[in-house]
Amino acid sequence: MGRKRVVPRIVYRHLGKEWCWGQATAYPKRPLIEIDPRLGAKRMLEVVCHEALHIALPHLTDHPPKSKEYKKGEAEVDRLGKILSDTLWKDGYRKVLLTKHQTPVLLSRHKVVRKKKKNKK
Ligand SMILES: [Zn+2]
Repeated sequence: MGRKRVVPRIVYRHLGKEWCWGQATAYPKRPLIEIDPRLGAKRMLEVVCHEALHIALPHLTDHPPKSKEYKKGEAEVDRLGKILSDTLWKDGYRKVLLTKHQTPVLLSRHKVVRKKKKNKK
């Protein structure tokens, strides 16, 4: 009997340059993946895979930041993320919006922000 798998929560928000294009946080109850919504579809798939791998294989980057081991683990996560996303993309997997809300919800640091509609008449 395995433990129940927890699916990470994924939110889209503008990430600062220093945070790159995605970020994974391994909260014990439910991991969080943050993705920058400005990414193109293929790059976004790669970043989602990359961040999911950080959660699936935490030992790879469980080292002091900027250490040799950390960089090695990060490179491995990057390599695996590219293989996964390239394979999925090649097999035709694409993001679709399943709800009637056509624009993804953007999150600022602290609150939900919805994209403003242009008031052009
Ligand atoms: Zn990474």
